Amino acid sequence: MNPTAQVASNLFSELTGSSPESVWSAPGRANLIGEHTDYNEGFVLPFAIEHRTYAAVGRRDDGIIRVVSTFDRTPVEVAIVELSALFGGAAGEAVQSGSVPEWAAYPLGVAWAALARGSYPGVPGVDIAIASDVPIGAGLSSSAAIEGATAAALDELWGLDLTLLDMAKIGRTAENQAVGAPTGIMDQVSSIMGEYDSATFLDCRSLETQAVDLGFANEHLSVLVIDTRVKHSHSTGGYGERRASCELGARTLGVPALRDVTVGDLERAKSVLDDVTFRRVAHIVTENQRVLDTVDTLRAEGPRGIGGLLVASHVSMRDDFEISVPELDTAVSAALDAGAIGARMTGGGFGGAAIAVVENDRLDETKQQVSSAFAAADYAEPNQFTVTPSHGVLRDA
Ligand code: ADP
Ligand code: MG
Repeated sequence: MNPTAQVASNLFSELTGSSPESVWSAPGRANLIGEHTDYNEGFVLPFAIEHRTYAAVGRRDDGIIRVVSTFDRTPVEVAIVELSALFGGAAGEAVQSGSVPEWAAYPLGVAWAALARGSYPGVPGVDIAIASDVPIGAGLSSSAAIEGATAAALDELWGLDLTLLDMAKIGRTAENQAVGAPTGIMDQVSSIMGEYDSATFLDCRSLETQAVDLGFANEHLSVLVIDTRVKHSHSTGGYGERRASCELGARTLGVPALRDVTVGDLERAKSVLDDVTFRRVAHIVTENQRVLDTVDTLRAEGPRGIGGLLVASHVSMRDDFEISVPELDTAVSAALDAGAIGARMTGGGFGGAAIAVVENDRLDETKQQVSSAFAAADYAEPNQFTVTPSHGVLRDA
């Protein structure tokens, strides 16, 4: 068994005194391109990574759901019949009132959202023990990983008959309503539906997906993650503000979502929007086009052609969407100076990680140069590691 799956299984045994019935896992994800486009009903191109969150689970005779994680070893328990009182109110209310610790709102919120889809009288209680090797708060979506692993485990234990897309939607509902983080559906879809050496091209309006061959393995390329260790939080601050700017932009332009604005419309948009809103809109509109261009380029030329698109994406986030931080800019420029094919910050921004597409034989040199650039700027040493585009949700045991 995978060592982290074993940790989850052991934690389950400590909690219950018996072995789990099953262990399910879901991966973190990195976003190749398409940032903040998801809640604008646009396009994204993320891929699942090999870092995963494992949920070891088993049924109980009562109606209690109990969760524990290596992240917080104090078990949290709630009666299943109480879940809707806990999470069914206005978004975020329950957690803000402090009735369960925030981390527990992810798995418990998934249980609530799964049951809220239909009528499931008398589902058994469950114990869930969680362990993960997805870095938390680094822009690699540990949140989608915990949601996906929990959703898949409960699907089996409770016989819910969920599709992969259902699981993704349940994860998003949990994150939006139970945790109170207004995120889109990209993370959950890419985590749950990932495939080896592929990215998931997701149309966030229709929710149609296509696996797009990345060809990194054949071309001897790696994706280097440069985690700046600058922590971000989605439930507070800038993320919500950016979302509000996008909504304002769409409303002012008279479209349902920024998805409906094209690069050719930007000139008119500039004349009707204030400067800040225009730059927010410009990022989303050009980013959508870059995602489409990246998919076309991967198909036509392979991965070596996408560098310029990745860099343009970073510049747009830095200058127009203003979600980068100096550490991320340093990571990107140092990686490019070291010869990376492309690099950009990834994830929601305000911290977290950058990715760089790097020749395998240039990896060590690139890491060193990034590390030196951080030292020269007096930033904390970044955490650098490679990620391999990997498979989605799985039953591990
Ligand atoms: P990201 O998804 O980028 O890692 P988020 O803020 O969206 O960052 O989600 C991180 C939060 O998800 C953590 O603060 C914690 O509440 C919860 N979480 C993620 N993984 C785990 C885990 N293994 N155990 C408990 N909680 C987790
Ligand atoms: Mg997250």
